[in-house]
Amino acid sequence: MDNEIFDIAIIGAGPAGLFAQFYAGLRELKTALIEATPRIGGQITALYPEKTILDVAGFLGISGRDLVNELKLQTDLVDSKTFLNSEVTNLKKIASHFEIEINHHASFLAKSVIIASGNGSFSPRKIDVPGSSEAEQSGMLTYLLPGLSEVADKDFAVVGGGNTAVDYAVELIDHDCHVSLIHRRDNFRAMESSVTKLKNSRRTNFLTPMKITGLSPKKEKLEIELQSVPDGAVKRVSVDRLIGGFGFTASSRTINQWEEFPEQFNQGFLTNEAQMTSIAGIFAIGDASSYPGKSDLIATAFGEAPTAINQTVNYFDPDRGGPQHSTSLNKKEVFKHDRIKSRYNS
Ligand SMILES: Cc1cc2nc3c(=O)[nH]c(=O)nc-3n(C[C@H](O)[C@H](O)[C@H](O)COP(=O)(O)OP(=O)(O)OC[C@H]3O[C@@H](n4cnc5c(N)ncnc54)[C@H](O)[C@@H]3O)c2cc1C
Repeated sequence: MDNEIFDIAIIGAGPAGLFAQFYAGLRELKTALIEATPRIGGQITALYPEKTILDVAGFLGISGRDLVNELKLQTDLVDSKTFLNSEVTNLKKIASHFEIEINHHASFLAKSVIIASGNGSFSPRKIDVPGSSEAEQSGMLTYLLPGLSEVADKDFAVVGGGNTAVDYAVELIDHDCHVSLIHRRDNFRAMESSVTKLKNSRRTNFLTPMKITGLSPKKEKLEIELQSVPDGAVKRVSVDRLIGGFGFTASSRTINQWEEFPEQFNQGFLTNEAQMTSIAGIFAIGDASSYPGKSDLIATAFGEAPTAINQTVNYFDPDRGGPQHSTSLNKKEVFKHDRIKSRYNS
């Protein structure tokens, strides 16, 4: 990332940041989309991927997961860089540019910044039992899926009863792993078809209704102590890795420490009609932006994104003009994929 100067740094890959990335591509801007977690989609991915969203224009109803997939396909059409696992830990003004610090070490420069960080970065809800810190330090307890290319035939345990845990377990059996799914109840609050898939798989072992009472990292394996919820009977299983799947919580702790920190209003950054914050060159959209009458909705975020992108251009290149309607654009030049270009070949 060092030495690169972007036109725009977009902080956060929720729906607001993703649509801003696409729209910036239409305007042929050099854009970096920076996301703290390993996955795009923000609150939708972290909290409600299977819920049907009714109030996104043009869709009779669309699942969270499908909406994020569509946004991803759209952003794939344009030239732009996406940095995952990259939390913006500081934002500084250096001459006419902004320095964006990632994970406390790497940094790069941008002419303008769009904050699309929602309610802050997500961190996993952690398992708190004797031995959990040691297990985490040993790398045998994690809260995210490992790289799935080299895990086949490994023994995993996943704990949790919602979408996060069930989705993790499905991904693992799809990659030929054995999964023990641990949950304090017999029923799961997750997509029924995913639960059925796990129930029909010989690779899944349901450890329910059971709770984890202790963890002991041994040489190569992690020993999990389980207690049966109805009768307190204790059981031990050994796995290669345990993955906590209790979901995520959002926190603005890191953002609150930025050196350039715009004025706040309610829970977000106060923005004007150009989506600009109190600091010139820093814009905010989606749930990160706040003003009287603001509705924290996906549709609102989608409207604020083009406003912010067009106004960043006015900020760092006021002579450039625009925007054009997308119907007037040369799609062969704007879209990077040959498949899409060929659609507009005539
Ligand atoms: C259960 C639930 C149901 C909902 N249902 C609906 C609905 O039906 N219709 C509707 O319109 N809205 C709904 N919403 C609201 C909607 O999800 C939000 O308005 C929308 O997600 C806001 O998008 P965003 O991109 O602004 O922020 P987010 O979705 O919060 O995304 C922000 C992203 O920024 C990242 N980030 C934060 N800080 C940093 C940092 N320092 N560095 C790098 N990355 C960072 C986060 O990890 C996250 O990925 C619902 C919300 C919830 C919780």
